[in-house]
Amino acid sequence: MKETKKKMPADKAESASFSEASVLSDEEYRIVKLFEDGLSSEEIGLKLGYTKWTINYRHKQIKEKVEAYRQTRSIMDAMASGEVPSLKPTGAALSSTTYTRVGIVGCGKGALSLFDVFEDDEVLDIRWIVEKNPSAVGVKRANEFDLPIFESLSEVLDDEVDIVINLTDSTDVSSEIHRLMSPEVELMGGESAKFLWQLLKKKNARLAQKELIMREREVFYHLGLLIENVDDLQDAGHAITDYATRLTATNTAAIVLFNEEKSEAKLLASKGLSDDALSERRWHVDECLLSKRFVSEILAEPVFFENIEAASTPILSHEMAELDSVMAMPLNVENSVTGFILVANPEKESFTSEEISLFTMLCIFAAVGIDRIGSLEKMRLLSMTDGLTGLCNQRSFMERLEQEIERSKRHGHNLSLIMLDIDHFKSYNDEFGHMEGNKLLKIFSRLLEEIARKTDVVARFGGEEFCLLLTEVDQKGAVKFANRLREAIAAYEMPNRNITVSGGVASYPTCAENHLDLLRKSDISLYKAKGSGRDKICT
Ligand code: GH3
Ligand code: MG
Ligand code: MG
Repeated sequence: MKETKKKMPADKAESASFSEASVLSDEEYRIVKLFEDGLSSEEIGLKLGYTKWTINYRHKQIKEKVEAYRQTRSIMDAMASGEVPSLKPTGAALSSTTYTRVGIVGCGKGALSLFDVFEDDEVLDIRWIVEKNPSAVGVKRANEFDLPIFESLSEVLDDEVDIVINLTDSTDVSSEIHRLMSPEVELMGGESAKFLWQLLKKKNARLAQKELIMREREVFYHLGLLIENVDDLQDAGHAITDYATRLTATNTAAIVLFNEEKSEAKLLASKGLSDDALSERRWHVDECLLSKRFVSEILAEPVFFENIEAASTPILSHEMAELDSVMAMPLNVENSVTGFILVANPEKESFTSEEISLFTMLCIFAAVGIDRIGSLEKMRLLSMTDGLTGLCNQRSFMERLEQEIERSKRHGHNLSLIMLDIDHFKSYNDEFGHMEGNKLLKIFSRLLEEIARKTDVVARFGGEEFCLLLTEVDQKGAVKFANRLREAIAAYEMPNRNITVSGGVASYPTCAENHLDLLRKSDISLYKAKGSGRDKICT
């Protein structure tokens, strides 16, 4: 076995924990080292300029590569120590491929179809063609394939062949071949050549099919790994649109998802779309013939749109309306359509059967992947929100608080925390019942969200206690805002009776060093407000 040794950089060779480093590229090795150093995939991604899921995907690939290397090496070690007999190449494997050399007499219509099949075959080698008439129908094709053409048999006698095929239908020509050629040469007539041609055509078709299956497997293995490693819908969408264009030789792709009621369509990810088209990210399903059609039909194969105007869709507007080659297929999960994928290319005239087949497989795969990631995202969202009010829950609020403190630290910004507690809420419950209390908490939450800015974090910290995190606001501003909030709440007409709140305000960096400190300080201020008569904001 010929072995090419890869040069190993000194630092790779020194790594005791990773002796397989030599099979890795420099970048792969760097990824492994960074993981060993305890960095997260996100941090490594930042360092190397990739997204975290690309890093996860690469890491998985690296592990597989190393595993394959380890297995090969342990077999080789076992062979070297005599535990396992080494594999000796057999004679058949050693000998080079033997060709069957073919000569063809007559370059008419019959020859035309033979060339295509023989050219594709790896064991048949057309050595020459004999044809007197330079304008015979097969001559042009023979020239395209670079097949040498001679005017008479006598010119090719020196070039030994195994088979001569007589395509002239003339017995005189057969006799001449018999007379001139060596007796070992086999003579084949037009009919037997046709039979051979049919056999070869079938064989070649089978080989092509096999190759296609291998390619599909490889592609879907990689896509599977990718989807498995991605936990963000957007990231998955980008990966899938990228694969879609590569598999179908197109430059434009889009994934559109329907909402649960199937009333709205939303662009999840796209590639190659104009900014114009991208401005329209959501639309009613009826506004686009594509989404209108797919939402109501479970299709197991792609649909083609020769004229995109007939299938007008917000994502392929304006210049894309010129497109005459668009292929789309719905995403089906458990007998329900969740969206569709489309690919397009203005320069393409049609899709090959291989492209159609790969695209179909991609859509089946993508549907399952997107569904899985979508469910994960939904669960993640549920675990972060409070069930009753839909606000951030305490856990996710604490995470955000920590992140926002870090961000303020980095940018030198202020950050203020308001902690609110409903006054005498127990008596509200006692008077109107727990369900009415719940109703009030919901109304109260909507009110907070309405008054707060989009960038503020509003959370239910527990019971009837709420937190508002105001980014880039100092203590003075926060107190002013908190009082405005307090007044608005007091004035708001609640179902049974109006309520008041007490609040404590603390700011970073004025009165707290870190996130826990900030929380504690605002809590102390809240108790001050409660202690001094309620319906107050204290610092
Ligand atoms: P204070 O002005 O001192 O804050 O008095 P308060 O009655 O609001 O305070 P306390 O801590 O004594 O009582 C809080 C009440 O909030 C008690 C509890 O029944 C109620 N509560 C907590 N969570 C919920 C909830 O999810 N739904 C309802 N309806 N009530 C809740
Ligand atoms: Mg209270
Ligand atoms: Mg309370």
